[in-house]
Order: sequence, then structure tokens, then C-alpha cells
Amino acid sequence: MHFNKKLEKFFLLIIFIALGVLAKNYYTSHTFKDQPLSQKNQQRITLKEKEILQNMRKAFGYEKHYDLNVTDKFPGRLYGLTTFNEGKITIYLNKKVMQESMDYMVESVIAHEYAHALMFSLGHFEEDSGGHTEQWKEICQKLGGKDCRPYVDQKEIIMSKMPF
Ligand SMILES: [Zn+2]
Repeated sequence: MHFNKKLEKFFLLIIFIALGVLAKNYYTSHTFKDQPLSQKNQQRITLKEKEILQNMRKAFGYEKHYDLNVTDKFPGRLYGLTTFNEGKITIYLNKKVMQESMDYMVESVIAHEYAHALMFSLGHFEEDSGGHTEQWKEICQKLGGKDCRPYVDQKEIIMSKMPF
């Protein structure tokens, strides 16, 4: 009997520890989503944009800056997308995937979307292969994108306003 009581206490303790870990994970993932972007991540994005603009000047002789929004209102796991709406070009990055993919975001996604934006600016609206033409790829590489391949199975150039 004595032994069983001890065992019971032991299992109760395990359950409380497990609940604690669960609560902590829940808290961490939710605070990350609901909080504004951390200063460190914001800084990485800003620095990368500067670098991309410098690369643009080197390759094309001009710098074109686009509005870049970080949002958690994206459907699904898409990294980023670029919209062309009545002449206005906007880049969106998905905050929901930043926690696990921030390096990819900084090294590849920003240049990837900037290349779509620049293609729009140059008057290219081809939607074949989701806008991932040879010219797009070349621009992405010149802007310093580390991985200039389309994201798997995703359409992310949009010729309209986003619903948010
Ligand atoms: Zn793309």
C-alpha cells in the first residue's frame, strides 16, 4: 500500500511536469505569432533589403524599393508572395513560418519575391510556371538569392489585392 501511494505521487508529478512543458510550448508558439516581429528578425529583413537594393544597383543601375509587409494572415505555409494591384506592387512575407525558417526567409525568400516585384516593374506578367521564368531566375540570382527555385507547388504571384 505504501509503495502504491509513492508510485501514485510519482505519476502525478510526471503528469504535472508534462502539462508544464505543454503549456510552455503553447505559450511560446502563440506569443511568437501574436507579438510584432522581434527586433532581431526585423533587423535581419531590413539589412537583407539593403543588400538586395545594392545588388540591384550593381546589376541594373537603379534601386527600386517595394513595400514589404510581414503578416500572419497568410493561408497555409507559403513563405511569401508578391501582388500587383492597379499598378501597385507589394511583397508579403509569412510571419507564421519565420520561427522555423528565418534563415531561408532571409537568404532566399526576400530576393525571390523582390525578383517577382522587379519582373512586374519591367512589365512581365507571364503566369507560366507561376512567374518563375528564366528571366525571373536570373534576376533572383543577381539580387543575391541563395536558392532561386520556385517553392514546391505554390502559386505566389497574385494580380489582385490580398483579402487582408
Ligand atoms: Zn515565386
